[in-house]
Amino acid sequence: MTEDKDGNKRSVGDEPHQYQAGSTTHREEDQWKHRPPYRVHEKGTFDVKWRGKCHCGAIQYELSREKPLASKYCHCTTCQRMHGAPFQWAAIFHKTDINFTSGHHDLGWYDPTSKSTTHHLPCKVQCAYCRSPIMDEGRNMILLFPTLIEGIKTPRGREAFEVQSHMFYPQRVVDIKDGKPKFQGLADESPLVDEDTGEVIPGTEPKKEDK
Ligand SMILES: [Zn+2]
Ligand SMILES: [Zn+2]
Repeated sequence: MTEDKDGNKRSVGDEPHQYQAGSTTHREEDQWKHRPPYRVHEKGTFDVKWRGKCHCGAIQYELSREKPLASKYCHCTTCQRMHGAPFQWAAIFHKTDINFTSGHHDLGWYDPTSKSTTHHLPCKVQCAYCRSPIMDEGRNMILLFPTLIEGIKTPRGREAFEVQSHMFYPQRVVDIKDGKPKFQGLADESPLVDEDTGEVIPGTEPKKEDK
């Protein structure tokens, strides 16, 4: 048994059912603000390579990496619906590569699997005001949407964020005949499909790693 600050006895791990609005809690759900990608860096301590913002400007962020770890188009049905677009353009970054300079309390979440709006990973992150998609937050990485980034149309932006491949290509609503690798599912974890016929290319199934 432990005693809380009001002197109420309770067993360790026995969580009260309700928290008063405004009360300070140390619940896991409230800890996101202090961890990457939401941890706010002190001025001058973040090496800024790019800046991005939502449509209304409430959400603003900086990136410290010149090139994403990877850049891909995702043609899956969930991305089509969530973005209201033929496909999603996703640039993968470490969670420590981003610094929110404005609006990090104005974010909204959505988990397409459970259809819940609590902060639960993996989830979609939006501006709570204008609803611009900001990123997909995974357990270890974030997927940013390069069209929010200033300078994306410059030669430097086009080069840095150029895509390497397409994912879930059989679910596409438009053909993109750019000669880049097209995966049936996740990149490097599914076979390649032919960009003209949409058929799986025999012999391109990824090898199972030896355990
Ligand atoms: Zn906004
Ligand atoms: Zn997708």
